[in-house]
Amino acid sequence: IQWEKQVRNSAQIHRSGGMSVLVTGAAGFVGTHVSLALKKRGDGVVGLDNFNNYYDPSLKKARKTLLQNHGIFAIEGDINDAKLLAKLFDTVAFTHVMHLAAQAGVRYAMENPHSYVHSNIAGLVTLLEACKSANPQPSIVWASSSSVYGLNEKVPFSEDDRTDQPASLYAATKKAGEEITHTYNHIYGLSITGLRFFTVYGPWGRPDMAYFSFTRNILQGKPITVYRGKDHVDLARDFTYIDDIVKGCLGSLDTSGKSTGSGGKKRGPAPYRIFNLGNTSPVTVPKLVSILERHLKMKAKKNIVEMPGNGDVPFTHANISCAQKEFGYKPTTDLQTGLKKFVRWYLSYYGYSHGKRNG
Ligand code: NAD
Repeated sequence: IQWEKQVRNSAQIHRSGGMSVLVTGAAGFVGTHVSLALKKRGDGVVGLDNFNNYYDPSLKKARKTLLQNHGIFAIEGDINDAKLLAKLFDTVAFTHVMHLAAQAGVRYAMENPHSYVHSNIAGLVTLLEACKSANPQPSIVWASSSSVYGLNEKVPFSEDDRTDQPASLYAATKKAGEEITHTYNHIYGLSITGLRFFTVYGPWGRPDMAYFSFTRNILQGKPITVYRGKDHVDLARDFTYIDDIVKGCLGSLDTSGKSTGSGGKKRGPAPYRIFNLGNTSPVTVPKLVSILERHLKMKAKKNIVEMPGNGDVPFTHANISCAQKEFGYKPTTDLQTGLKKFVRWYLSYYGYSHGKRNG
């Protein structure tokens, strides 16, 4: 009863026309920010996360505390737990599901392939089954990835471009997720929107990502490994600031149940859409390092090595015109500004002052 009360309280809507959203992966980087933004504007939010140890679980616990302090209950549980999902949908008539739980990262798949199948395929199907059986059926918005464009060389990437050359198992499971969600859309009429995020960064970010681990190593005086593509070409990413991604997530949730839109790929009678959420201005990895050096006021010890071919792609670059047309998506934070905010958060979170760590 206590559990049900917590879930219902957390799902309570505090604005007219608001939504109640189940956010999976709520203790993750994007999930935390999206949950807070939904709550802030008066929507009901219930989080679900298995708090796995892919990266520092204490960071996930700290995000959970942040959520709790804003009245958001984040349940510890797995999206593969069909009983738990059924209980959740029995307790709350969720209008939307924001599905962000996944096994992320491309290199980790070399040693842990089944983790990707468990969360990104089996877990996705379990969640879709629960949504299918729920009454009312929620609209689903979920995170795909720019990695589905794989080794595609035509830039910028548009939603209709080829996605048949995944460079990693992670990308393959995201691509599979797009096909699986499409199937649930046209067979069961579930409303589904897939968002292809492009390299998201910012405060409360993911320690496994380059900008984060570079910051850590630079501060600790340790070398960083900078990958370079074939023929000494620098790798480049369309780095997208978290606040811009959050706006895109909320915009797509707001339009997700409507079938009259014009953007993305639409298939079947219930809306099925896919949108790029990127920044449209790729930056090379050496440039990323130099911005971090400037903000940290420290020099990096760079180890420049050829990309080992274990999952990374040489570049990413988003065409965002579909999301722009559909829900006014317009990123406004450039990498300089966004990294400044990240570094400020990092120094404060890890207790640094003036380049030295406290305590
Ligand atoms: P994250 O790893 O910080 O968040 C994912 C969360 O899901 C984690 O807290 C994890 O504990 C949880 N989780 C994993 N498997 C689960 C399961 N089986 N059941 C319940 N919870 C589970 O990653 P993120 O950067 O916040 O990414 C959010 C989503 O966006 C993911 O789907 C990811 O693949 C996608 N994405 C992220 C980026 C990026 O640059 N951050 C880029 C493209 C796509």
